[in-house]
Amino acid sequence: MTIEEVKKFLKRIDMNYQTNLSEDKDVVREWHTDLKNYSNEDLDKSLNEYMKSNYASIPPKRWALLNDLKTIEQKEALKDIYETCIFCGKKVPLLEYKKHHGRCLDIAYLIKNGKKFLNKDWDKEQFYKMTDAELEDKVIKMQLIVYDKTTNLQEKAMLEIYLKRIKAI
Ligand SMILES: [Zn+2]
Repeated sequence: MTIEEVKKFLKRIDMNYQTNLSEDKDVVREWHTDLKNYSNEDLDKSLNEYMKSNYASIPPKRWALLNDLKTIEQKEALKDIYETCIFCGKKVPLLEYKKHHGRCLDIAYLIKNGKKFLNKDWDKEQFYKMTDAELEDKVIKMQLIVYDKTTNLQEKAMLEIYLKRIKAI
């Protein structure tokens, strides 16, 4: 990120957290030292994720935003490396693996619990075609069904904590 991009990025934090980070030249320089090797797009995504997290009420620290990110150089080095998904067997670029794996895990959850609690034999393909938001919505609906019907008290307790946190119950 350039120093201008860092400044704009800090403005986003300022707007969301009523801070004044972007006004202070030393703060901008300090953040730039840590953020300069990362892409603007990745930092924006990271901030979006942060604002949906458990810690969303406090202004983000740099390390929290950079936690999961790779530098532009690291991404370049990994761009031709693929990993085989343990769920669907597809070859997936390593950089997209985490997200892909999350989706496949969600689909496996839907198929398993659709069979167990609704006695449905769902076709996987319909789920693969869904957008992230549509799939997320399906998973929450299924979690509500599982929460309602499961006899596993530990599963029920864990779902209760999660569903309350996302305000689904
Ligand atoms: Zn997969």
